[in-house]
Amino acid sequence: MANVTLRSVRKTYPGGFEAIKGVDVDVGDGQFCVLVGPSGCGKSTLLRMVAGLETVTGGEIDIGGRVVNGIEPADRDIAMVFQNYALYPHMSVYNNMAYGLRNRGMAEAEIKTRVEEAARILELAPMLERKPRQLSGGQRQRVAMGRAIVRQPKVFLFDEPLSNLDAKLRIAMRVEIRKLQRRLNTTSIYVTHDQLEAMTLADILVVMNGGQVEQIGNPLEIYEKPATTFVASFIGAPPMNLMSTRPEEIRSQLAGSNAADAGILGIRPEDFVITEETPAGGVALPLTVEAIERVGAETFVYGSREQEDQHVAATPGELPPGEVIVRIPGTGAPAIGARIRVAAVRA
Ligand code: ATP
Repeated sequence: MANVTLRSVRKTYPGGFEAIKGVDVDVGDGQFCVLVGPSGCGKSTLLRMVAGLETVTGGEIDIGGRVVNGIEPADRDIAMVFQNYALYPHMSVYNNMAYGLRNRGMAEAEIKTRVEEAARILELAPMLERKPRQLSGGQRQRVAMGRAIVRQPKVFLFDEPLSNLDAKLRIAMRVEIRKLQRRLNTTSIYVTHDQLEAMTLADILVVMNGGQVEQIGNPLEIYEKPATTFVASFIGAPPMNLMSTRPEEIRSQLAGSNAADAGILGIRPEDFVITEETPAGGVALPLTVEAIERVGAETFVYGSREQEDQHVAATPGELPPGEVIVRIPGTGAPAIGARIRVAAVRA
């Protein structure tokens, strides 16, 4: 069993900057946990503490029932996959994968079995004699994963492993990592600033901001019920429409508004429809169409609210004041400058 438990974990860097301000996370055996948040929120610091590459200045990290705070990285039974792959350029793919095992004094026959098995899983078998420079970015990334797999660790740690790849390869590798993890069933912690990567990979999603956890849970739960306006605007692209409402009007608006902060109404772009009706128990807004983005299967309509719209006072979060994003299926869209009405029942 390899649960990873963080209890009130803190990190103050020498010089006094507090990068992690008391974090509690419990990753169950075989689960895929993703740490997501904006640049500087502390996700790499947290991962590096689990790896043993940074000291823990408060709290406890427990891997497989053992507190590892004082234990060297090599003795933690973890394997880490880095953003820059960290391959040895002068060594063949085979030797890159074998290196760590040789260092531990493993017999060559066992090394050969493990490397060949990893190469088979990762479809690297025909490339074992090549040097890293003779590989594509995606293949190099797979070698880096191979190096982690051959160790047969209790826990995989991934530090933004896909951020050097182009968009198409990122998606392909994302799917591969998930399939691989399901197959090996190894407890994993994965750091990314990409909310889509986080949503698609995670069993448990940890949304971080300013050295603290904003929300932990199943990705869809977090998407459906963001606990704070930060989570509401960070998870989902384009972001949730966040509108502040006057207190007396909230009661007449949607029951069970999503963003939990008082007085904030959150409506996902896909929850609006263009209609003249005001649905019972719903909210309707008049908008002027400012911009249209057609991306194929769907279209994003950027509208501005009109002056006389009294329901909604201001828009915090990522949207410019008064702007609302509406997602409609297909390519049919109103003309720029058109005055439309949109309505939503769910918020
Ligand atoms: P990114 O996505 O940009 O890598 P991150 O969420 O991984 O960001 P960290 O690298 O964990 O963030 O850094 C968290 C905070 O700690 C940042 O404000 C950073 O400047 C600070 N920090 C990181 N390393 C050190 C260090 N060695 N000494 C002092 N402060 C540090």
